[in-house]
Amino acid sequence: MKLLFLGAGSAFSLKNYQPNLIIEHNGKRLLVDAGGDIRFSLRDVGLSSNDIDTVYITHLHNDHIGGMEYIAFTTYFNPNKGKPRIFCHKLLVEDLWSHSLKGGLSSVQGKILNIYDYFDVHALNIDDEFEWEGISFSMVSAIHVFNGYSTIPTFGLRFVSPAGNKVFLTSDTQFTPDHLAEHYKEADIIIQDCETTPFRTEVHANFDDLKTLPDSIKKNMLLWHYQDNVVSNFEEWQNKAHENGFRGFVSKGEVIEL
Ligand SMILES: [Zn+2]
Ligand SMILES: [Zn+2]
Repeated sequence: MKLLFLGAGSAFSLKNYQPNLIIEHNGKRLLVDAGGDIRFSLRDVGLSSNDIDTVYITHLHNDHIGGMEYIAFTTYFNPNKGKPRIFCHKLLVEDLWSHSLKGGLSSVQGKILNIYDYFDVHALNIDDEFEWEGISFSMVSAIHVFNGYSTIPTFGLRFVSPAGNKVFLTSDTQFTPDHLAEHYKEADIIIQDCETTPFRTEVHANFDDLKTLPDSIKKNMLLWHYQDNVVSNFEEWQNKAHENGFRGFVSKGEVIEL
């Protein structure tokens, strides 16, 4: 199994692609999130929507679902390609369609379509595990944006690779070490949302906060979803990450064998 980081940047990065990755196993590819630049990030590694059989969606910001229209149309009109599967929490499905995709996808020549015409949708409860290529995945609820009334639904992932590596992908998350403690402790590889700008959006974990985590956690932590200031001075930031005990920043196109 391998992880292929299609991008490692934050939502509006101009020097990196958005934080989407592929889990590859048995010649199949599970795409974790499809942001607005997915067709370019796939192209850069020699792939297209035709090479994706399943998409897992963490939440509904554009850097995570903005490429779903591309995946929908290009696979729908490809007679040789079956419907891609979607796995996601059931709270996301209605908003994914009605508030994000419907405007562009609901009409094609002579037909009115819905999300099920494009995708084989598997809507999950938080305690459901889903199987892909013999591997069990479970969701981890993350605290990303609190709008004053509720927290928007956002779901990271946990799984164990065939070689026994325990992987935890936080998805977009605030710095919530208590909330994520159990998952941080158990994982061998943590793919962590990391904001690197001095101003704080408050909805992403900032590098300066992540530095305060115990070394036993940081040594397993791969930092991504970072801003262009890291891309501009990658070596300097990578040194800073290593000096602070992190496994390091991941780069666009990086592959990790598990
Ligand atoms: Zn994001
Ligand atoms: Zn987000």
